[in-house]
Amino acid sequence: MELIKTVKEIREEIKKAANGKDISIGFVPTMGYLHEGHLSLIERARKENDLVVVSIFVNPTQFAPHEDFDSYPRDVERDYKLATKCGVDMVFVPEVEEIYGEDSATFVNVEGEITKKLCSKSRPAFFKGVATVVAKLFNIIKPTNAYFGQKDAQQVAVIKKMVKELHFDINIVACPLVREEDGLALSSRNVYLKEEERKQALILSKSLFTAKEMFLNGEKNVQNLKEFIIENIKTQELAEIDYVEIVDARTLEDIEKIEKPALVALAVKIGKTRLIDNIHLEG
Ligand code: AMP
Repeated sequence: MELIKTVKEIREEIKKAANGKDISIGFVPTMGYLHEGHLSLIERARKENDLVVVSIFVNPTQFAPHEDFDSYPRDVERDYKLATKCGVDMVFVPEVEEIYGEDSATFVNVEGEITKKLCSKSRPAFFKGVATVVAKLFNIIKPTNAYFGQKDAQQVAVIKKMVKELHFDINIVACPLVREEDGLALSSRNVYLKEEERKQALILSKSLFTAKEMFLNGEKNVQNLKEFIIENIKTQELAEIDYVEIVDARTLEDIEKIEKPALVALAVKIGKTRLIDNIHLEG
């Protein structure tokens, strides 16, 4: 397996691998610094496709100027070894210039409710960057199936909407959120957490798990569940809540009572590190 850096080369390699046959291509877009969450997507793609392509690209357009684009963890060599172990066929690692050129002016913007709430409130340009880069990567790789993690539940909803509305002939596969044994959702950003922050970060998953228990014991009122989670998180002095929301799992619309599948999603800063987590409730 090789690291492939240019659009021209990855297209040629995919064509060569297909050898004129109609093969299925599984694609896993990532920003690298791979962990078990990413690997679960890759393993699923490996099972379901003839060819597996992983991209590693820290996408500048989804970071605001004050965010962590420059310091985002990167280790392509380590990623390459992990990807090889998982049986990936090609790793696409383009430079920013290769994807955006010098004077990029074409963007994909998924508008409406779906990109007005949750993460969009504190990261207003985030999904424009995500949709744009994913559309570009889809046009380069032309996958049959593309794999995304439910860790980024709003991202899955936005990508599904974009794919439907732009008529991409690609099947979007949403994969379960992978956690550390103690409950912390795996994230490349977890390396930022200092020891005490790592401890206090556990309040995110703990609150979600307890809220789920409350729901299973009959609590269907969104406000009550939200308040419980907020109060719980506030017990940790390093935690600063960005949002805690409970929405319709499919449309991300606001709800008052849980009668259909719901998504409990939250974003919390622990020290300087912004973490997201979520859990599904089957209403
Ligand atoms: P990222 O490199 O953070 O952009 O993530 C690349 C892909 O891996 C996205 O589809 C994420 O949703 C997915 N992913 C990241 N963390 C996890 C996790 N803990 N469990 C499942 N999927 C994940």
